[in-house]
Amino acid sequence: MTLTDVIGVLEAAYPPARAESWDAVGLVTGDPDQEVRRVLLAVDPVAAVAEEALEWGADLIVVHHPLYLRGTTSVAATTPKGRLIHTLIRRGVALYTAHTNADVANPGVSDALARAVGLTGDLVPLRPFPDDPWRGLGRIGEPAEPTTLGEFAARAAEGLPRTAWGIRVAGDPSRPVRRVAVSGGAGDSLLGAAAEAAVDVFLTADLRHHPASEFVESGGPALIDAAHWATEWPWLDSAASILHASGVTVETRVSATVTDAWTRGYRS
Ligand SMILES: [Zn+2]
Repeated sequence: MTLTDVIGVLEAAYPPARAESWDAVGLVTGDPDQEVRRVLLAVDPVAAVAEEALEWGADLIVVHHPLYLRGTTSVAATTPKGRLIHTLIRRGVALYTAHTNADVANPGVSDALARAVGLTGDLVPLRPFPDDPWRGLGRIGEPAEPTTLGEFAARAAEGLPRTAWGIRVAGDPSRPVRRVAVSGGAGDSLLGAAAEAAVDVFLTADLRHHPASEFVESGGPALIDAAHWATEWPWLDSAASILHASGVTVETRVSATVTDAWTRGYRS
């Protein structure tokens, strides 16, 4: 398989044209004609992931987060990002990003998150595209049986990969939960959509004190704040399955390296 073959499959599943205008998706390093046998999938393009890729002999790393989101005038190995670029090019490893185009895809990042935290049945976007009701940001779904916020949170924590702080909950643990919204990554821009959708709980990452406090005070859905990395990690399996289902003959591996920014939690 060539890099072009693999990218063709990824771009059919995650069309770059659907990425947000501020985003930077697609090929970062690599020659379209190079051969690809092993594909490592990871959330973050960081040194630990590059090391894992080199150790395993990956030819391509597919990541969710862009390495460079804004313009740069240098890739010198004097910064962590420049060093990463040097390592990858020197060792012939391609790097490819599917970010907001993977968020809005069907199946996309939030579908995988929804399944990981135990939602079943049909999932619909929390903020659908005006021209496509089955694609868009976030997902709404239901747990297999009506439950409580406390039970749902415990189930969600179990379904997500382990991180330093786990998950945080805002709301009465006995509150009934029948309808749930989720959004992988930083989802505070979807708080309004979650309130309008009249879900019982909204699970996302990177929520801040004031918006979260005001949201719960105003009688909105309960909130669950998980680690950013953990909410996007379940998507990696889904992307690997898409590669396999397409018939491209590559070996895939989902990185188990925890690259969440927060590495320790302490309680007073
Ligand atoms: Zn993210």
